[in-house]
Amino acid sequence: MSGRNTSRAGRRRRLLDWYDRHRRDLPWRAGTGAAADSYGVWLSEIMLQQTTVATVGPYFSDFMRRWPDVHALAAASLDDVLVAWQGLGYYARARNLHRCARMVSRDRGGNFPEDEGALRALAGIGPYTAAAIAAIAFDAPANVVDGNVERVMARLFGVETPLPKAKAELAARAATLIAPDRPGDYAQALMDLGATVCTPKAPACGRCPWQNGCVALEAGDAGRLPRRTPRPLRPLRKGVAFWTLREDGHVLLRRRAEKGLLGGMMEFPSSEWRAADWPPAAARRAAPVAAAWRELPGVVEHGFTHFRLELTVMAATIDGGAGAGIKGGVWCAIDRLGTQALPTVMKKVARHALASAKS
Ligand code: SF4
Repeated sequence: MSGRNTSRAGRRRRLLDWYDRHRRDLPWRAGTGAAADSYGVWLSEIMLQQTTVATVGPYFSDFMRRWPDVHALAAASLDDVLVAWQGLGYYARARNLHRCARMVSRDRGGNFPEDEGALRALAGIGPYTAAAIAAIAFDAPANVVDGNVERVMARLFGVETPLPKAKAELAARAATLIAPDRPGDYAQALMDLGATVCTPKAPACGRCPWQNGCVALEAGDAGRLPRRTPRPLRPLRKGVAFWTLREDGHVLLRRRAEKGLLGGMMEFPSSEWRAADWPPAAARRAAPVAAAWRELPGVVEHGFTHFRLELTVMAATIDGGAGAGIKGGVWCAIDRLGTQALPTVMKKVARHALASAKS
């Protein structure tokens, strides 16, 4: 190891040298020296919110093939975008993505603003995403701080304050290191370092360009930081989902309200989600149609950000006449469910119902 060099300039240079040799080859990343495409940067950053790079890769390529620029995406129907988004979760992001594309296409001639403040005025772009787009697409000296960067800063500077209280302190630390001559590369280098070297468990300090002068490494327990205040257990809600099968093999769906959780997505008609149990009589009253409902064994479990959900699935087969009277319903052939904008929790309901039918 060379002599201790913990100056800001030294740290920047070592990180950028490391990045030039080890940068990840990502589908949305411009080649060395090439200008970034702001549309691709924005699209990737929205997709990457709460989703991993490995998951996003095929979605990004698919979106770019179908909608190669912001005007094309703005002209797409929301339903097509929601269907293409299926599997990425957090559907409010897809709806905001579409709204944002329309704003940029209609009001800005297809050009994303370069300024962080103006970026934040667009749908679905919060402080982190605005900073990331400003830095990566426009090489602005923005402070791009996500969970990866917080982890690296906590370890590098030995910050013992637990998260989330430490957020401001960690962001201030990160701001001191921004490279004024290559801010976009610096932001991406730090992302790569957090994702590939300074990983949550067992960081690969032997490969780290910042091992020289890293407080956590010197303390001999790099993986211990950052500290976190334990989260309270998310509350449990319960509901009933209705698998309503028509004799011709079509199943009943409906669209959720535009506002709120999973807004505008399709679902199997469901009861309210609440803390209390659903006794069979109450569950039947919540059904979309009177029928010989039977409860399927087991439950469907799903975790949302703020609560856990346990769904009982009730199934019934009805004839076409009974189905005709259901307002707001959409009948879909079971083998065509993949074309519907179904959130993950509803895909679990479908799998549960189909598995029960086979057993
Ligand atoms: Fe992280 Fe280890 Fe590098 Fe410190 S030396 S920044 S703990 S990978």
